Amino acid sequence: PLTTTDLIEEHRICVCVRARPLNKKELTTKDLDVITIPSKDVVMVHEPKQKVDLTRYLENQTFRFDYAFDDSTTNEMVYRFTARPLVETIFERGMATCFAYGQTGSGKTHTMGGDFSGKNQDCSKGIYALAAREVFVMLGKPNYKKLDLQVFDLLNRKAKLRVLEDGKQQVQVVGLQEREVRCTEDVLRLIEVGNSCRTSGQTSANAHSSRSHAVFQIILRRRGKMHGKFSLIDLAGNERGADTSSADRQTRLEGAEINKSLLALKECIRALGRNKPHTPFRASKLTQVLRDSFIGENSRTCMIATISPGMASCENTLNTLRYANRVK
Ligand code: ADP
Ligand code: MG
Repeated sequence: PLTTTDLIEEHRICVCVRARPLNKKELTTKDLDVITIPSKDVVMVHEPKQKVDLTRYLENQTFRFDYAFDDSTTNEMVYRFTARPLVETIFERGMATCFAYGQTGSGKTHTMGGDFSGKNQDCSKGIYALAAREVFVMLGKPNYKKLDLQVFDLLNRKAKLRVLEDGKQQVQVVGLQEREVRCTEDVLRLIEVGNSCRTSGQTSANAHSSRSHAVFQIILRRRGKMHGKFSLIDLAGNERGADTSSADRQTRLEGAEINKSLLALKECIRALGRNKPHTPFRASKLTQVLRDSFIGENSRTCMIATISPGMASCENTLNTLRYANRVK
């Protein structure tokens, strides 16, 4: 298991993978685990250990990342190795960004937002809340007393937000709400409102959230000027197979935009990691909104690729792992 001495501090880009346990549905359909995390940075995709009559041969594949979190890893532990090292960045006038990327149902919202599955919704253990709490602790230190904290979220009743670029090449999200917050509880309340906006009116919580990116931003200001920004993003599900053949035009268009934004995201992170002068952030709305995160001098990014352990998901899992591998 990981210990704090395993923490890599200096990386500009950190790429991790997190596998969740088999869930009830997978257990009832007798889906089998095809993921093994043999050490703190290795993921293996393999045939199920149980003897089964396989209709399809699954070739063993091994991937290496900065960290690999197995299904016994808690959100606090994931936080400690991913978002936590980035909190300092925003106090040093930097831009920090943390993404959850993966198939619908693989654990993105569980990781970022916390546990929204049961009746007692608990967002206090999600990375949003853990990061916000740490920011308030830092603000209590004498050097940082003069900083104000604000939280951005898409607290809009299902309204689609438009992304525009003004004359000064600044990207504006029309209708975005910004709130001043004074304590962690203020932030938790906003996360709950944001989450209910994202899922309200939908038959299943995942139906809408799998087709939208949720962007949660913590902004530090000093005398009205931005000092640092932390963007935490629960991306749209990366599975898009059914969209391209859908009879519904809206579904096809949304699917195309999601594909485009996830491709653009990969290219922007790669450019950041290679200190390339040109960052292709214009290629999608998502990367336009996150422009500052890619072009700042002091920018750090962490991607958490979430995977489902079942055989039934292995194609999506391999796609997720290949994408995460390319980001590095
Ligand atoms: P996504 O946002 O990627 O679509 P969710 O975060 O909604 O996926 O997770 C799907 C389901 O799996 C939820 O019921 C969630 O509580 C559960 N889950 C996800 N990750 C874990 C985990 N690491 N441990 C236990 N349950 C998990
Ligand atoms: Mg989700």
